[in-house]
Amino acid sequence: MWEKEFNLTDRNSFGFNVKAENYAAITQIDTLESALADIAENNWPLLVLGGGSNLVLRQYIPGAVISIANMGIKVLADDEDLAIVEVGAGENWHHFIGHLLEMGLHGLENLALIPGNVGAAPVQNIGAYGVELADCFHSLTAYDRQTQSLVQLSLDECDFGYRDSIFKSAEQGRYIIWNVRFKLSSVFVPRLGYKALADYVLGKDNAPPTAHDVYKAVCDIRSSKLPVPTEIGNAGSFFENPVVAEKQYFELKDKYPNLVGHKDSAGLYKLAAGWLIDQAGWKGYVHAGVGVYDKQALVLVNRGKGTVDELTELSEMIFDSVKQKFGISLCIEPRFYPA
Ligand code: FAD
Ligand code: NAP
Repeated sequence: MWEKEFNLTDRNSFGFNVKAENYAAITQIDTLESALADIAENNWPLLVLGGGSNLVLRQYIPGAVISIANMGIKVLADDEDLAIVEVGAGENWHHFIGHLLEMGLHGLENLALIPGNVGAAPVQNIGAYGVELADCFHSLTAYDRQTQSLVQLSLDECDFGYRDSIFKSAEQGRYIIWNVRFKLSSVFVPRLGYKALADYVLGKDNAPPTAHDVYKAVCDIRSSKLPVPTEIGNAGSFFENPVVAEKQYFELKDKYPNLVGHKDSAGLYKLAAGWLIDQAGWKGYVHAGVGVYDKQALVLVNRGKGTVDELTELSEMIFDSVKQKFGISLCIEPRFYPA
């Protein structure tokens, strides 16, 4: 089952030159169980790899890397307006969104064109344009490495937060997500809270937007400001949006009237990390083989022959300058592996 010294250069969206000591693609639960038995026997560290679009992989990955290649999209229940759809962890997220559009099932259109696989989507509760996975989540099936059994986890048990869940935080490494179930509607309700999306969709004509209009708008806007990983290596937003108390927000707003921030449901303010980085002068900056994308300062890129060390140096310089200018400590979004 194991492929030795497996090349992962085209399996991480930064395109770093990476090798895994042992790699296996897993399509069946019994193969997963034998892989985990080997891992335990050899005392290997384990990385579960999806599309590699939220990871910064170092040059050599000791132990095991497994990729969950469980495929398939099934409608489990279809009441009048509501359907439950189960999708394998190995399905590509964007293809899944396209498939839902064809089936006339709605709720996730704003999450079109997010790279990666379905199995990783609950890990950081992926979100974009005011919608997050949790909004349409029903439940998931995962292999629990602690109890060595398949378990079903509900919305509450996943404890989704802003780009967060138990899989990313409290229980990192415990669960291997096998499939995910979504609650979707046959009635389309556009979610146009984000100005860029509303301007794009409503600017065209006065007719109410269809699901296809919103899907296409999201794809067009994203394509115009985000680098395509197969052309320019990146992992999307490199830093999380910092969330600050009201007092700090208004102090900053006094000093920087153009500060971009949004009040959240808890009364805290989410600042646009990209704006902070841009104002600190980093947009388009080049550091050896890596750099800051010139259309979106929140995205750090591999210019071709970049390395993880160079990326770390650049991110530390950005961290220091944003801290000095705004008093804000940025947190990195993608996971570095090995840590
Ligand atoms: P990977 O990077 O392979 O893995 C991410 C994490 O999930 C790792 O910790 C991994 O171990 C774990 N994991 C993977 N599969 C499983 C599994 N089956 N079971 C348990 N754990 C697993 N994110 C957003 O939220 N919103 C966006 O709009 C967005 N836009 C992006 C745009 C670009 C251009 C890029 C490059 C990235 C963007 N991202 C965005 C980040 C990323 O695409 C998402 O987080 C995505 O869900 C990662 O999926 P993946 O399959 O590539 O996961
Ligand atoms: P944008 O629309 O220019 O907005 C800038 C920031 O302001 C975003 O971070 C967004 O927060 C916030 N924002 C804008 N309008 C808002 C509103 N009405 N209510 C609350 N917050 C609002 O952002 P962008 O860079 O072009 O990205 C578009 C969307 O794609 C965003 O949702 C972003 O999160 C997502 N995206 C994520 C990644 C990633 O890797 N995580 C990469 C690319 C794009 P939020 O980020 O919380 O939405």
